[in-house]
Amino acid sequence: MQFVIIGGGPAGVQAATHGARLGADITLIERDILGGAANLWDCVPSKAMIATGAVIKKLERADRIGLPVHKLAPNLDELRSRVSSITEKLAKSYDQLLESQGVRVLKGTGKMISAHEVLATFADGREEVIGADAILVATGSRPRIPEWASVDGINILTTRHAYPPKEIPEHLVVIGSGVTGVEFVHMFRSFGSKVSLVVSRQQVLPAKDPEVAAALEADFLESGVLLYKGARAVGIERTKSGVRVLCDDQRSIEGSHALLAIGSIPNSENLGLENAGVFVDRSGYVPIDHHCVSNVPHIYAAGDLSGKLQLASVASMQGKKVAEHVMGLDGRQHRHLDYEKAASAIFTEPEIAEVGLAEAEAFAQGRKIRVTKVPFASNPRALIDGDARGFVKILSDPATGVVLGGSIVGAHAAELISVIAVAVTARLRVTDIVESVLVHPALAEALAEAAD
Ligand SMILES: Cc1cc2nc3c(=O)[nH]c(=O)nc-3n(C[C@H](O)[C@H](O)[C@H](O)COP(=O)(O)OP(=O)(O)OC[C@H]3O[C@@H](n4cnc5c(N)ncnc54)[C@H](O)[C@@H]3O)c2cc1C
Repeated sequence: MQFVIIGGGPAGVQAATHGARLGADITLIERDILGGAANLWDCVPSKAMIATGAVIKKLERADRIGLPVHKLAPNLDELRSRVSSITEKLAKSYDQLLESQGVRVLKGTGKMISAHEVLATFADGREEVIGADAILVATGSRPRIPEWASVDGINILTTRHAYPPKEIPEHLVVIGSGVTGVEFVHMFRSFGSKVSLVVSRQQVLPAKDPEVAAALEADFLESGVLLYKGARAVGIERTKSGVRVLCDDQRSIEGSHALLAIGSIPNSENLGLENAGVFVDRSGYVPIDHHCVSNVPHIYAAGDLSGKLQLASVASMQGKKVAEHVMGLDGRQHRHLDYEKAASAIFTEPEIAEVGLAEAEAFAQGRKIRVTKVPFASNPRALIDGDARGFVKILSDPATGVVLGGSIVGAHAAELISVIAVAVTARLRVTDIVESVLVHPALAEALAEAAD
């Protein structure tokens, strides 16, 4: 099986490693670095910066546990080299992994020239045509830049200019209050910037559980973030001292820098999709079925390009499923990816994580559910650590006790949600969590309490 993959992000790398294990003959074409945008621009650098900010915030709170600490500021040069060294280490480890599995990695740009041929073009102008029985396009996405914004990478930024920017903004205006926007608000707030957030609706994180969003809003307000609710940005002007963000309700916000976090657009241009007869929708995504197959039976799309949940974790699971389908695994060895059961997290303070059914969704469906909620305020570990913000919420079926979903707001929420994620995927009951003897003192004890 000649399997050609275009794009070496989480989707492409996972499809390659899993496919190689299953016996496919694989060529992966990547024009930049292995690990993709997730490694170079998105998950890894943003979380590395947030990790530095978290230490600053933790130390600033240390007086609560008897260690008063003075104000701290990050060293930008050190931060920059730390971010790039993590990225390089990860890219190198993917390189070694793929090499050890016999995957042929081509450092070049891939384009389909027919439904069974991919052209790789290298930096020195050389070209190679590779024949393929199956093709995966996993070329990801990039930040959306509206026509009213002239991004200069100095004062008007996308997330790709922020690792870190040349200087810590004195006053950053973040446009967009989805997951990416709030993470950057948190990141720069922890570095000491004044931050204003343009929130187009009446709630930050408009797609999330209102209780979860309210917990984050409370923290933002407490830490001095200015929220401009119900305002849509429609322009950014350069001023002597920085920028002025213009909103559709006539308000304007003066700041030193503006950062756009208003979503992404898929990298579907110049891929030769038309040469292979692959359908692309009006937004540039490649629609797929539950096996990640496009309208052409042997051509697959995965990751951000497929327009499903835009998460690195989902992209790599899609990659794995593609490899299984390409290699013809049957129903006993190959399960469909259930997007509804994907866990997700927002790396703010408090951290936020969710999985499965949400309360508002259950309500909208008129579905009977049992909701139990326990605050961390009574959790011994949270009190010992001096950070008892947030709560655990578990949703279950009142008739069977099967865990349907949950949300966690608080320290280490992104780690703790894994317990509920496994319960949702394995259809465990609340009693399975309650009867597990957990570590004491541990934040996870709040999960057992919430399940009870
Ligand atoms: C700021 C930010 C933070 C994020 N944080 C998280 C997080 O914490 N957790 C999480 O799960 N998700 C996070 N995401 C989402 C996550 O980054 C994406 O969902 C994920 O990167 C998608 O993976 P992918 O494999 O589709 O593509 P990508 O990671 O975008 O990789 C695609 C690769 O294809 C290559 N490519 C493109 N065109 C070609 C071509 N013609 N030829 C050869 N190569 C090509 C690119 O160079 C790139 O390396 C974040 C996103 C953003 C914007």
